[in-house]
Amino acid sequence: NAEFSGLSAVVTGGASGIGLATATLLAGRGARVACLDLNPEVPAPLTGVRADVADDASVRAAIARVVAEFGGLDILVNNAGIGAQGTIEDNPDDEWRRVHEVNVLGIVRTTRAALPHLRRSSHAAIVNTCSVAATAGLPDRALYSATKGAVLALTRACAADLVREGIRVNCVNPGTVDTPWIGRLLDAAPDPAAERAALRARQPTGRLLAPEEVAAAIAHLAGPFSGGTTGTALAVDGGMSGL
Ligand code: NAD
Repeated sequence: NAEFSGLSAVVTGGASGIGLATATLLAGRGARVACLDLNPEVPAPLTGVRADVADDASVRAAIARVVAEFGGLDILVNNAGIGAQGTIEDNPDDEWRRVHEVNVLGIVRTTRAALPHLRRSSHAAIVNTCSVAATAGLPDRALYSATKGAVLALTRACAADLVREGIRVNCVNPGTVDTPWIGRLLDAAPDPAAERAALRARQPTGRLLAPEEVAAAIAHLAGPFSGGTTGTALAVDGGMSGL
């Protein structure tokens, strides 16, 4: 029997990068998986559902559609997120609001919409994609780090609120992962190849992480083998925070 057979999962931001790798892994281990994303194009057997986590009505409609189609919901992976560069002086208030709308309120909205359904599951788990930025004190990432600090706090607070209901809430803290997001950042540099080499050299392992390595940690936290774990942050950062 596959680890996730009979279970239904929603992965936000599931059309690219870490989200797509997670959705693919969960489906490969037997789950029915819906990817809620601005982009609804995902490969079979995944189900793509167009949704904007910055829009409450869109999130509610998408979760309702998934539950109607799958007959329930057991696993929620809150992974949709956007980046932001700059020190505290660089981004105007509107930019602070825009990034919080996706990275923080996006998780609030999706979790709120999913909880009535997760409560009916006997394998309910929520996994949030946080970041090393939540605790690392990265330069030039004030706004992004603030949103991920909020995700870490929210993960712990929700875990406390839901523990007696048997709903586990954890997060992963990835380091630098080779996703289309990082590709876009590198492509914007004057010399992308040199920038990529420099980025690699800054990693303790000398390489970027693969999305599948983060997906494996998310799947662990979403699945039955982590039944005793809630309110934790699992680093998948090639040693960035621990060495
Ligand atoms: P990505 O850009 O490859 O994928 C993100 C996906 O989220 C895209 O498919 C995008 O369409 C979707 N998305 C963006 N805004 C959305 C919205 N409002 N509603 C619905 N979907 C939306 O990025 P990624 O690198 O896979 O990042 C995924 C998550 O991992 C993010 O939360 C990011 O903060 C986190 N993370 C990434 C890295 C990294 O190095 N790549 C490191 C730490 C944490």
